[in-house]
Amino acid sequence: MLAHFAADLHGDWDKYHLSGQYAAQEKPRVLILGGDNFPRANPGQNVVDVQTTFVRQLLRDFLVTLRDDSPDTKVLLVNGNTDVPETNLDLTALEREGLLTVIDFTRARVDDLDFVGYPRVNPGVSAFKHHEMRDLLADPYIPGDSRSRGDHSIEVDLQRSTFTENPKNTVCVFHAPPYDTNLDLLYAGEHVGSKAIRQFIETHQPWVTLHGHVHEAARYSGSFAHILGNSLCLTSGNEMHTPYLYVVSADLNARRARRIRFI
Ligand SMILES: [Zn+2]
Repeated sequence: MLAHFAADLHGDWDKYHLSGQYAAQEKPRVLILGGDNFPRANPGQNVVDVQTTFVRQLLRDFLVTLRDDSPDTKVLLVNGNTDVPETNLDLTALEREGLLTVIDFTRARVDDLDFVGYPRVNPGVSAFKHHEMRDLLADPYIPGDSRSRGDHSIEVDLQRSTFTENPKNTVCVFHAPPYDTNLDLLYAGEHVGSKAIRQFIETHQPWVTLHGHVHEAARYSGSFAHILGNSLCLTSGNEMHTPYLYVVSADLNARRARRIRFI
């Protein structure tokens, strides 16, 4: 199954456009948007207005054009920490039109593979906290975050059967990368990924995992891939304020992947 994967497009319309053109050409069976999909607000703008307008207008235009150009391509979407939850109603409207499927906490079958998405990220330096959550259960509470009370944590979330079942045929789309891999490296040589996500991958060994969030990791580590046991983990590595779009084009069944740069 041919898949295109791109995360961290941050509402950059040129990157969406390039990605749509490439999909029109290659006609992948699935096109996966891996979180931080929508624009940040400029000073003086309301981020909820900016993102809901983007979803209603530009994202919808992108999806309608893609459906015309490549009718058999299914679009799967996972949110990220800069995507506000207030877009949910508008995303649901696009789902009703058959234009995409949101796979946050949900399993979707396409042909012989299952896809499941997870939008939450471990605490980090990003100012955008919409889907941030305590990583391991043993980690300290995040001050001010009611979701990190009780046993709420990424570690506990990922124990749900939605994530653990059928690993040999499952592609997990996590916005955050696993800790201490090629996919979570910052410029200072620091690894900032999720320990709970790494632990999940090592324990359950999903067929393929896809990640975003740490934009520069592939550039600093020199690789967009990492192998954890029998799992192949990939990142697209899109960086803001550059004109380049990076798409991972993968034969998911054969687990062969390329990272392609467009401008
Ligand atoms: Zn992110």
